[in-house]
Amino acid sequence: MKCTAAKGAAESTVKTFYIETFGCQMNAHDSEKVVGTLLNQGYSQVPTPDEAELVFYNTCSIRDKAEQKVFHRLDQFKKNGKGKTFAVLGCVAQQEGERIFEKAPHVSLVCGSASYNKLPELLVQLETGNRRVTGLSLDTDLTFETPVTRRDNPHRAYITIIEGCDKSCAYCVVPFTRGPERSRTSASVIAEASELARAGYSEIQLLGQNVNSYRDPSPAGWDFAKLLDQVGRVDGIRRVRFTTSHPRDFVKEIIDAIDANPALCNHVHLPAQSGSSRVLDSMQRLYTREQYMTRIAWMKAAKRPIAISTDIIVGFPGETEADFEATLELIDEVEYDSIFSFKYSRRPNTVALRLNDQIPEEEKSRRLTILQEKQRAIQVRRNAAYVGTVEECLVEGFNQATGQWIGRTSQNKTLNFLRRGEEDLRGLYVEARVTRAGPNSLAGECVN
Ligand code: SAM
Ligand code: SF4
Repeated sequence: MKCTAAKGAAESTVKTFYIETFGCQMNAHDSEKVVGTLLNQGYSQVPTPDEAELVFYNTCSIRDKAEQKVFHRLDQFKKNGKGKTFAVLGCVAQQEGERIFEKAPHVSLVCGSASYNKLPELLVQLETGNRRVTGLSLDTDLTFETPVTRRDNPHRAYITIIEGCDKSCAYCVVPFTRGPERSRTSASVIAEASELARAGYSEIQLLGQNVNSYRDPSPAGWDFAKLLDQVGRVDGIRRVRFTTSHPRDFVKEIIDAIDANPALCNHVHLPAQSGSSRVLDSMQRLYTREQYMTRIAWMKAAKRPIAISTDIIVGFPGETEADFEATLELIDEVEYDSIFSFKYSRRPNTVALRLNDQIPEEEKSRRLTILQEKQRAIQVRRNAAYVGTVEECLVEGFNQATGQWIGRTSQNKTLNFLRRGEEDLRGLYVEARVTRAGPNSLAGECVN
């Protein structure tokens, strides 16, 4: 754990807190900011809920299963949670609001991500004995900027550049749980990247539900491609990644920026969701398969080989066997380096909830298995092509069991490698020759 700044802790009544995070990288980074805020307020973090006076769950509601997890956790404390204060943060908090107090009466704080900038005052209300505290307003232009982020990774740092989402994909709760889009000023993003570089971070990951729709609210007026390039030019920053992109807003200038600036990693995550234009239309994704493939063609024509990953949903209402076949053809045609694949899950408030022709659960499972098996074979093939090549890796850790260092390539592939000597390589950039490849990782030996 590395702390970029955490000052001003009140020395006297130190309260302990525990936090567990569910869901995406945005949530992971929100938790880093929440932890920083809590430390700054004088709280002290403990590793288990049993040791904590305050228990925070930062939740995800993207699929039903994710949502249920937090209620299982809370149930465990229904009887033996006396003396503890429970707080539900994030997407389930925003979606369920005060209903959480009915479902789990031992919860005292419910706060959505658009209200995190009010956390210090909500914590004061809790401290003064308030039993039901909420922060649920989505009516904000503000982003959650905090100088006291407590970062989990000592080498790679997340920077949020845009919060919320203005799209309305028919299956998705995010616009309801994270509110409308708000971009940060380019000056504050560059200042954070510079400060991180000074603190020793060399890799930055720019975050947003749709980073491509970033619009600098300051007079500088940068778009995403400009911001990406400029972050890659900050002294000391060696690698820049970004997630997530939306095909509708993904412009060729982003690939031009990657081509022109070696600090920008040659990996793009471009969620397709489906290979059928008919399903894409009913998902309200705002692009066709052909338009999606145009973006893929830009990447395939880039100077450096760009690794491509995606998200796919199977079993969206009305998805026929032919639509599913079109998705299988898409993954064959693109030859993704990796995919995240999900069974469609019905979510509250969304348009798809009202669509007829819901696909039975067993059929969704069947399609998911077929898709994942096909993708596994593609990854075996693609990774095998790296055998014999030399790749630059940022060393992220050491595996005691195998005696291998764990590295990550610019293309976001895990490369486990051997190296003689006692030197601690963590945080360093080394070159490794790939000698073996599996579906999910590469293996090799260090050449320097
Ligand atoms: N904003 C990003 C985007 O547009 O791709 C990510 C949103 S979400 C955190 C990540 C992925 O979850 C989506 O790309 C989609 O594949 C999946 N997802 C979202 N809603 C879903 C649902 N109702 N059922 C199944 N998968 C879902
Ligand atoms: Fe959800 Fe679509 Fe927004 Fe992504 S772009 S967060 S899938 S509504």
